[in-house]
Amino acid sequence: MSTPDPTCIFCKIVEGKIPSRKVYEDDEMLVFHDINPWAPVHFLMIPKQHIASMAQVNDSHQALLGRMMTLAPKLAMQEGCRPYPEGGFRIAINTGADGRQEVHHLHIHVFGGPRPWAKG
Ligand code: IMP
Repeated sequence: MSTPDPTCIFCKIVEGKIPSRKVYEDDEMLVFHDINPWAPVHFLMIPKQHIASMAQVNDSHQALLGRMMTLAPKLAMQEGCRPYPEGGFRIAINTGADGRQEVHHLHIHVFGGPRPWAKG
């Protein structure tokens, strides 16, 4: 496990220094509700280790990212997304300034629920 970045709010959430509404947790990842949701269902999936963005991902992260992506649909249903194909969900990973990334700790957004949504 890499060292937490003391300036990173998501590292502070992992460490319990900032509270979060947890959806799921294991040794390698944490899932919690977005503090400013823009869909009826909106949660974030993060690795516990500090990876700044998708731009820093390498082969050593394959298994972790695979687990995160395969868990996403299960958590989406658990959190109230409607079943595919009438329902479904949206996954986004903002990366860098051009990707509109604001928090520089890799996170997978999962959005869902009946439209309209606030954005998107
Ligand atoms: P980004 O634009 O992809 O970096 O999105 C960062 C997301 O983190 C935004 O949707 C924020 O609402 C969310 N966020 C920021 N701080 C917190 C927090 O303390 N708890 C939960 N979500 C947060």
